Amino acid sequence: MLDAFGKCRPRPDQQLAIETGLYPYFRPITERLENGEVVIGGHAVLMAGSNDYLDLSQDPRLKAAAADAIGRHGAGNSGSRLLNGSLRLHEDLEAELADFLGKEAALVVSTGYQANLALAALFTPDDVVYTDQLIHASLVDATRLGRARVVRYRHNDMAHLERLLEEDGTGQGRLILSEGMFSAEGDLCDVPGAVRLSRAHGARLILDSAHDAGLLGAGGTGAAEHFGQQGAVDLQTLTFSKCFGTLGGAIAGPGHVIDYLRHHGRPAVFSASLPAGCLAAARAALHIIRTEPERRLRVLAAAAKLRADLTALGLPTAPGITPAIALQVGDTLMCLRLCKELLAEGIYTNAMVPPAVPGGKALVRLSLTAAHTDANLARIVDACAAAGRRLGLIPARPGHTVAASVLTP
Ligand code: PMP
Repeated sequence: MLDAFGKCRPRPDQQLAIETGLYPYFRPITERLENGEVVIGGHAVLMAGSNDYLDLSQDPRLKAAAADAIGRHGAGNSGSRLLNGSLRLHEDLEAELADFLGKEAALVVSTGYQANLALAALFTPDDVVYTDQLIHASLVDATRLGRARVVRYRHNDMAHLERLLEEDGTGQGRLILSEGMFSAEGDLCDVPGAVRLSRAHGARLILDSAHDAGLLGAGGTGAAEHFGQQGAVDLQTLTFSKCFGTLGGAIAGPGHVIDYLRHHGRPAVFSASLPAGCLAAARAALHIIRTEPERRLRVLAAAAKLRADLTALGLPTAPGITPAIALQVGDTLMCLRLCKELLAEGIYTNAMVPPAVPGGKALVRLSLTAAHTDANLARIVDACAAAGRRLGLIPARPGHTVAASVLTP
């Protein structure tokens, strides 16, 4: 008889990473230092792998708001919004988010993952969901929990999406699902193309703005606003774990749709509500996002500079404008090696390997925040230059040999 737990062993690539000392995950941070460094494994390293783009997670105003709200409401709500976990703070934040995003209403849930999962309530057997091939796992899971037919289009390929929409004239409800800013590669959805197709083919457009809300657009509402299309997106999902510096998620859109999701979105109905500390921190963050645009301008300027410097070095740097900068090394082991070499150089980054990215598309993601200084950027460039040369990703300078130890697993 098959042991149901027999599957619970490392995947071959995970095993290889462990055996070669390249395993990069679950590294505990034991301390946060003042200068943007964190202590990992007893060493101070520069954090270039968080999604805290606006540097708000350590902001004294968020900490004070959270502490005050915990003092008044306690550490948790012990139940779902529907039954016993609703606070006036949820309603206040929902009204403020709807106003910020220019939508009729918003629903706050406990994570961005849950915000996306709640979308499953919209995916019935009467519908077809057209998804970008590279959408986040939480959106994939929403399509699995939902019962609609799912049609995937090639990443950001609007001609492909158009062909699929034209071929598929079944008279069913149609939804297009994409991310505003893609989390791994840091590139942007072709929002104008998606809006045009959604209108031409009677489809509703849903954008996950987990990474771009707070960061892009003149008012900071996200990728759609960046392209002048904020009003044309039907539903927008958010997380508070990136630009908002805390935890939580939200969905914003037409009032009747939000009310439907409030009653039918399973994470909204069957999971405990977001606690007061996170709600108050998210409200403080929203206020800062609305009043301090210089934060997003600073991180976007830093991203432009770092991307240009890494490209000039000859590293395989993905083009774009966002502070998630992908070094597209392709091979999984090379990605793990680069991550380890950068850590040895004092820089913490993220290794993105399959299944988080497609096979053969492994990448190291460098994420910047508004706190990174010019000196920090120079330190990252120097580390990338040294690690890239050692691994043969940048042609070695004449007379410079590549250490054999880093070329063999
Ligand atoms: N969507 C995208 C694109 C994400 O990158 C993430 C988190 N990495 C989420 C949703 C989920 O957000 P949360 O961490 O708040 O659950």
